[in-house]
Amino acid sequence: IRTEFPEPGKTMVYDDSQTIDLDQDGATPLEHGTFLVKVLVLSVDPYLRGKMRDPKIESYTPAFVVGEPLYNYGIGVVLLSENAAFKPGDHLYGVFMFQQYVVESDPGAFRVIENREGLPWSVYLGVCGMPGETAMYGWKEHAHPNKGETAFVTAGAGTHIEHSIPHISYVLGFADRAASRASGPVGSTVIQLAKADGLKVIASAGSDDKVAWLSSIGADVAFNYKTVDTRAVLEREGPIDIYWDNVGGETLEAAIEYAARHARFTECGMISQYNTAQPYHIKNLKSIVGKELSLSGFIVTSLRAKYEAEFRATFPRRVAEGEIRYREERVHGLGNAGRAIVDVQRGRNFGKSVVVVADE
Ligand code: NDP
Repeated sequence: IRTEFPEPGKTMVYDDSQTIDLDQDGATPLEHGTFLVKVLVLSVDPYLRGKMRDPKIESYTPAFVVGEPLYNYGIGVVLLSENAAFKPGDHLYGVFMFQQYVVESDPGAFRVIENREGLPWSVYLGVCGMPGETAMYGWKEHAHPNKGETAFVTAGAGTHIEHSIPHISYVLGFADRAASRASGPVGSTVIQLAKADGLKVIASAGSDDKVAWLSSIGADVAFNYKTVDTRAVLEREGPIDIYWDNVGGETLEAAIEYAARHARFTECGMISQYNTAQPYHIKNLKSIVGKELSLSGFIVTSLRAKYEAEFRATFPRRVAEGEIRYREERVHGLGNAGRAIVDVQRGRNFGKSVVVVADE
């Protein structure tokens, strides 16, 4: 497998079995309109679990097809192009197959990342990518924060790490090099947006070291939901005006119980329910009426048209300046992608999980 740019007159192997022969003039055998991309880094997200289902079951996202490659958000670099939209060297953001190289034909499905801030490319899969969009769009659309209010954010992120993956490394956002551990990209970003809006923030995660991270990024009250009773914390620190829900289940029930009148619930995810055959039945739904709560579910892609321009114009700069902090976990090699997917479902990830497929 070649890792550098193809040269005229050389044969380029782009898969274990397929080759591209370049003639002496450098003309490529790519069909008109297509472009060859080397995949650099792929995202691992909780929602991939929902794609591993019986395709007959309806959902907002199509099911994976057994026998075909997985796919998800990723960053790749264009090696060859027969499409005027892209040139070799462009870094593209979009949905890629879990492959080392792909030949694509739809330029509308990808966008060039300028990366003027010089951030690591993988950041465009986390805080500057879909999870960061989720946090910002959901917060702007549904939270309606007022200074001095109290927000509860179920930040999510792993049990104590016992990594089975041999090739793994951690990266801290520029301002975070002194911090030790992390939490998920959506919850971490929401905490920081809530603090910037002048709220008191209560945050939870599944290990003490992640709780320390939540405090380091500004949470006023952070606790380990596996060892501390969520209800006791909310009773002491609440009532809550905003609940950012990443987990659903019993925690949602507790949030309803300790919600203030007119509280807003942003229903972002329910990871506690993704892998259970026996969904948790929430017992206090009638309080939604009595407390006049607003519960808003949302999918990030539905809000993209409204907020994407603002997100792209502001988030990379805020991250580069250390105003928004992040942490990511890098798994190296496509062969470890399966374990990374399972680890996110089991809460073993420390921050945004990405698979590094290749170095530049
Ligand atoms: P994270 O990196 O936070 O990973 C998920 C985390 O959830 C795990 O690390 C784990 O942390 C926690 N978790 C796992 N299992 C359970 C469980 N049974 N009960 C409670 N917590 C659990 O993920 P993201 O930041 O990428 O995503 C956070 C949430 O946002 C997810 O629910 C996801 O589905 C949702 N989402 C929604 C989108 C939308 O458009 N609505 C878009 C993107 C994400 P811990 O150690 O704390 O248990």
